[in-house]
Amino acid sequence: MTTCIFCKIANGDIPAEIVYEDDQVLAFRDLNPQAPLHVLVIPRKHIATINDLTPEDEALVGRMYLAARQVAGEAGLATRGYRTVMNCNSEAGQSVYHLHLHVLGGRSMQWPPG
Ligand code: 5GP
Ligand code: ZN
Repeated sequence: MTTCIFCKIANGDIPAEIVYEDDQVLAFRDLNPQAPLHVLVIPRKHIATINDLTPEDEALVGRMYLAARQVAGEAGLATRGYRTVMNCNSEAGQSVYHLHLHVLGGRSMQWPPG
């Protein structure tokens, strides 16, 4: 039995507001949104961090970005713009160790990030 919270969401064991899903990836709204649009795109397969990606995951990562593109497009943000972020390990602020791509938009953003 998995203890990973995002595996549980992918398996339907805990609820989430899903905005996109296919056979390989899932996108759902962040519980603690940092922007009007804040969606997390995850692979169904458990991968802890970017460091754990292998060449066989190449297409899967591409699928995550295509899902992000679709979610942002459906939110009307394709032209206005949006940000995708994937944190890796503690100094980057990763708190859930199941790969996830943040899709943030609907407000102006600063650079560099904090
Ligand atoms: P990280 O800090 O690892 O890059 O991002 C983890 C994100 O997952 C955070 O933005 C946090 O709000 C979100 N999160 C943590 N637990 C849950 C949950 O159970 N459901 C949802 N929808 N989001 C979660
Ligand atoms: Zn997991």
